[in-house]
Amino acid sequence: MKDGATTLNRRTMLQAMAATTAVFAAPQVVRAQNNSEVLIIGAGLSGLAAGLLLQEAGAKVRIIEGRDRVGGRVLSYRTLPGNPEVGGTSFGPGYARLVDAARTYGVGIRELTPVIQYYAKRELFLDGQHISMQDWPSHPRNPFPEQARAVPPWAYLGGVLAKANPLKSSDAWVQPENATLDIPYRDWLVQQGVSDDIINVTYNIEPSHGNSAYDVSTLMMLFVASFIAAQQQLAVPGQSPFLTAEGGNQAIPEGMAAAFKGDIEFGRNVTAMRSDGSQTEVHCADGTKYKADHVICSIPCSVLRRIKIDPVLPPEQARAVQTLNSQIINQAHMIAKEPFWEEDGLSPNMFSDGLVCSLVGEHKGDDPAEVTSVTAWIRGHSAALLDQMPDEQAKAAVIADIERHRPAAKGKLEIVEYKSWYRDPFSSGDWAVWQPGQVSTLAPHVGKPHGRLHFCGEHTAVSNRGMEGAMESGERVAFEVLEML
Ligand SMILES: Cc1cc2nc3c(=O)[nH]c(=O)nc-3n(C[C@H](O)[C@H](O)[C@H](O)COP(=O)(O)OP(=O)(O)OC[C@H]3O[C@@H](n4cnc5c(N)ncnc54)[C@H](O)[C@@H]3O)c2cc1C
Repeated sequence: MKDGATTLNRRTMLQAMAATTAVFAAPQVVRAQNNSEVLIIGAGLSGLAAGLLLQEAGAKVRIIEGRDRVGGRVLSYRTLPGNPEVGGTSFGPGYARLVDAARTYGVGIRELTPVIQYYAKRELFLDGQHISMQDWPSHPRNPFPEQARAVPPWAYLGGVLAKANPLKSSDAWVQPENATLDIPYRDWLVQQGVSDDIINVTYNIEPSHGNSAYDVSTLMMLFVASFIAAQQQLAVPGQSPFLTAEGGNQAIPEGMAAAFKGDIEFGRNVTAMRSDGSQTEVHCADGTKYKADHVICSIPCSVLRRIKIDPVLPPEQARAVQTLNSQIINQAHMIAKEPFWEEDGLSPNMFSDGLVCSLVGEHKGDDPAEVTSVTAWIRGHSAALLDQMPDEQAKAAVIADIERHRPAAKGKLEIVEYKSWYRDPFSSGDWAVWQPGQVSTLAPHVGKPHGRLHFCGEHTAVSNRGMEGAMESGERVAFEVLEML
């Protein structure tokens, strides 16, 4: 199965699994409570995907979860109109496993074509001043070369990446022949003729990975760019490549959890894992103890590094766990008591070098034009700054920043939900950020099995990103365990 599995496609693998179900479904020895064949830590997408595949193959599986809900970093705020996303925000047509899960578990998929025009229009603010797209080409802060002066800052680097990305396959970012690109994204951009002025007014205002272009590997950014390009290529011509789930993306892990027949136990905060040759023992903060023949751990490295693992991980894997950081992102979800954007005549959406780098008017209702809520995104150093404040002070700082840029918003925004992903003890950040030098040395090791302890989670994905990366890793780890059962 090992060699064949790597060459089989997903459908063939699932058919092969269905055929082997009868073998795995042979009667099991009755085990003591809290003993299971496979114990999965984490009921996010990767843990649930692994659990469902193992269940389908007849394995005896239990899932334990530290939070009181499923979904992990997929979370939709049902307290606001339209259920805006605070975690996994949208997906694309190439998210085969996620789309398949939505269809299989009865979750509707919402195509964003009717609303994408509203999200695409953004207002530029630099140094607290609004700069219209008419003024931008001749504005003194515009650092772009002559032929690109009309390009808005948020779109500029996409063009550079599209032209210069040398990666030819989805997993090329981890292939040794590309290790020379495991350098700061800033350095690679400079090699492409992009100045530091340009990097400052583009990437460093709204860093998707790390705090600036200095602390993310070029290989990571090229992988992200290839993955996004693949989603765009797979979209039906004339339609947006962005999709969401009806009821919020959280409906997908909820649908998966409902189909999982084994136990999912909540409030189990894992603090230690100890393996001997035949079993792994898992300890939780509340004193609960589990034993399993195989344990699958979907915990992100930013959290895993606080958990005791005995015997210790091999050096490269331990280094990955200890040093692979997660992006810092905070969000404030707001209701506008009055549409301030009608008063100042601008789109509610902003790209700004202030505290809030991105303000987004959500369009999640039946009427595509209706703004159902407003989301402020705070990233990198700015998010770290907010994390040093008590929530009420951080929320006040967010509102003050928006009002400073948009005086028409004064007194009109109410924060209904505020989220720091870093301060959430079960994620300690957002998606994994591979720093310069980490991809070539640590990425090949982070997902390796450690005896009977196995790892999944988006940080172990090789060919897909985000939610689909989580699903990919859940599938990979399920097969890894099945081969050993
Ligand atoms: C703000 C934001 C925006 C995003 N946008 C997108 C997007 O647009 N598109 C996209 O594809 N992806 C996006 N993502 C990323 C995507 O949501 C994640 O990659 C994916 O959901 C990760 O799934 P996972 O199973 O790997 O990890 P998780 O969802 O984190 O699952 C791990 C589980 O383990 C549990 N756990 C952690 N520690 C312990 C412990 N000690 N004991 C017990 N349980 C524990 C957690 O509670 C969690 O349920 C976004 C994420 C965020 C936060």
